[in-house]
Amino acid sequence: MGLLGAIEAGGTKFVVAVGDHDFNIIKKEAFPTLDGEKTLDKVIAFFDQYPDIDAIGIAAFGPIDIVVGSRTFGRVLDTPKRGWSGYDFLGRMKAWRNIPYFWTTDVNGAGWAEFTTGAAKDVDNMVYLTIGTGVGAGIVVNGQLLSGYGHPEAGHIFLRKHPLDHYQGHCPFHGDQCLEGLACGPAIEDRWHQSARDIPDGDVAWDIEAYYLAQAALDYTMTLRPDKIVFGGGVPHRLNIFPLIRESFAEQMSDYLKVPPLDEYIVPVKNGDDAGILGCFYLAESLLASQAI
Ligand code: ZN
Repeated sequence: MGLLGAIEAGGTKFVVAVGDHDFNIIKKEAFPTLDGEKTLDKVIAFFDQYPDIDAIGIAAFGPIDIVVGSRTFGRVLDTPKRGWSGYDFLGRMKAWRNIPYFWTTDVNGAGWAEFTTGAAKDVDNMVYLTIGTGVGAGIVVNGQLLSGYGHPEAGHIFLRKHPLDHYQGHCPFHGDQCLEGLACGPAIEDRWHQSARDIPDGDVAWDIEAYYLAQAALDYTMTLRPDKIVFGGGVPHRLNIFPLIRESFAEQMSDYLKVPPLDEYIVPVKNGDDAGILGCFYLAESLLASQAI
């Protein structure tokens, strides 16, 4: 039996790894993201050291085309990142070695790790939300990653503004109308002129942030009725925010729907820094399992 490969393709950093079929990382390397061609040169140089790779999971920064059968499947779509718009990421990998690849978003990769062995391992339906430089969501319905015309962009759902919030918003497309524009890390920093890390517990900044995350959780609850909502990314590293999110959620829900106990329903991630790599391994393995049937 060969190895599993993982490519966690972030907008600022790439992490590549190989592991065994028990998901132990054998070797891992990270390097800064350059343009498409140069970055993939490095990716391929890493995997060239391992002639026996069974499958590779790729979790890439977006927007990317993950719709099987689409003309641009496997490519990075329009992005302001230099040297990436239209880049045929998957095509380059397949031209290098024609093995099975699982191609999905970075958010889906980390979300899938939470679903498989993390905070949502005991359920079939989950929303994973990451709040960092941007806001993204990975959604699992009946054990499958949800996607249709494209991958969900549930970080850009429109929200009602907090009455005390006069910030003009951070989303280049939606200003202060969407979740990312109001609640991502840079929005917090821009609004309060300090990093989320430095804002003390008890500050009104956390009430406002929790109000938005609770509102998002409410919208996902209304539309998807998941078993669990998992929050990851830099901002929810501050665990003090969870009781605030739950409290605001209950208030905004107004007893309308029955949901699981809130401290089991709205929860932080469980996988550590290797979540993205683990997710890629799990997805690669799932590909092999589905081919074996
Ligand atoms: Zn937006």
